Amino acid sequence: MNDSAHGGNMTEQELLEFDRAHLWHPYTSAAAPLACYPVARADGVHLQLLDGRRLIDGMSSWWSAIHGYNHPALNAAMTAQIGRMSHVMFGGLTHEPAVELARLLLGIVPDGLEHVFFSDSGSVAVEVAMKMALQYWHARGCRTRHAFVTVRRGYHGDTWHAMSVSDPDTGMHAIFNQNLPRQYFLPAPRSGFYDSYDATETDEVEAFLRQHHESIAAFILEPIVQGAGGMRFYHPDYLRQVRRLCTEYGILLVADEIATGFGRTGRLFACEHAAVAPDIMCVGKALTGGCLTLAATLCTREVAHTISAAPPGVFMHGPTFMANPLACATALASTRLLLEGGWQGNVARIETILKERLLPLRRAAGVADVRVLGAIGVVEMREPVAMAQIQRRLVDAGVWLRPFGRLIYTMPPYIISPDDLHRLCDGIHAVTAGTAGTADGAA
Ligand code: PMP
Repeated sequence: MNDSAHGGNMTEQELLEFDRAHLWHPYTSAAAPLACYPVARADGVHLQLLDGRRLIDGMSSWWSAIHGYNHPALNAAMTAQIGRMSHVMFGGLTHEPAVELARLLLGIVPDGLEHVFFSDSGSVAVEVAMKMALQYWHARGCRTRHAFVTVRRGYHGDTWHAMSVSDPDTGMHAIFNQNLPRQYFLPAPRSGFYDSYDATETDEVEAFLRQHHESIAAFILEPIVQGAGGMRFYHPDYLRQVRRLCTEYGILLVADEIATGFGRTGRLFACEHAAVAPDIMCVGKALTGGCLTLAATLCTREVAHTISAAPPGVFMHGPTFMANPLACATALASTRLLLEGGWQGNVARIETILKERLLPLRRAAGVADVRVLGAIGVVEMREPVAMAQIQRRLVDAGVWLRPFGRLIYTMPPYIISPDDLHRLCDGIHAVTAGTAGTADGAA
């Protein structure tokens, strides 16, 4: 290993040994952790490992690095902001990065969202959304509406209430079920994005809401793409009908756009596929272009002002790093870059190549389904995949993916070149043969 690559004193071997002995990684055992690959730096769509190997990144660091890594515009925004202030408290103070970012976001999100609550991560943004919904009904003097309704196969994060609305069986949280608040779970949407819509799905939703609406604060779901719960793409009519029924039964609609936001599905926000506007919406992940952790919960004037009109007259949440100026300045630069950079063309090009290269895998032995939407490609196997082995083979082929469960999937940075995307698809082709193994988690 070249010591100067990471500026430390440890050899690569020492670094890996210490990591293995002392560091938790996502959804990983402390006693028998899966292999980890040390990264020295990342540029564009490439991750460079400490041993010098270069991998094409097919994950965008879990949906976030949409512009690729080490982007000069994002670096410049961060450097400039560091010179002014990295952080100040948001209680009683405000700053240009937060205000400018909020102004930009409010101009691009679905109609009706007018208030922005910045927080540190996607899960926290979901907690904030759920608290908003509960405090809204509290402020309206309606004490019965304290449950949430959601759909199976959903995923909303790893914190407490976010877990309570994530799929209780296929999700990663089954172990905590006894301690989580009980929420209502409807069947997962059935009609796929490209199928014709089966209207009986909505009949079930309607029957349920008619019976239970007086105990429901909000309906929370991921619009169009169910991510970590199964990488499923459902029909826009389902979302449209859920919006209609929420309005009819006076239930708030919370759209979790944390994974789907900022162009990933081919629309700036996935709600646009159904032309719906939620009452509360969460964004995160790609908000800062994957540079720093920041999320936002946006809500309508009705929600914000109802909460504020009744005692205690304030919304009861206020994290230490709320609206962190460094993260806000980066998010502002990332969102401007996105809007000015022809993302539609990039995402459409990725979609075309993913369809061309991955859809034929439907005929491969062991493959249950292949689906592509926007810059997301999913190969669903019949059996759980052996993540560690597959990952090693992919790394050897110069590709970075993190399969989980029965899924081998990619959501590359939008700037990926056709050549690199083809190499990524070559890697997926190579590993879809002989993939049995154990399941793992995904964020
Ligand atoms: N909601 C969705 C739809 C997500 O995909 C995720 C992250 N995988 C979260 C919430 C939680 O975000 P974070 O990991 O930033 O807490």
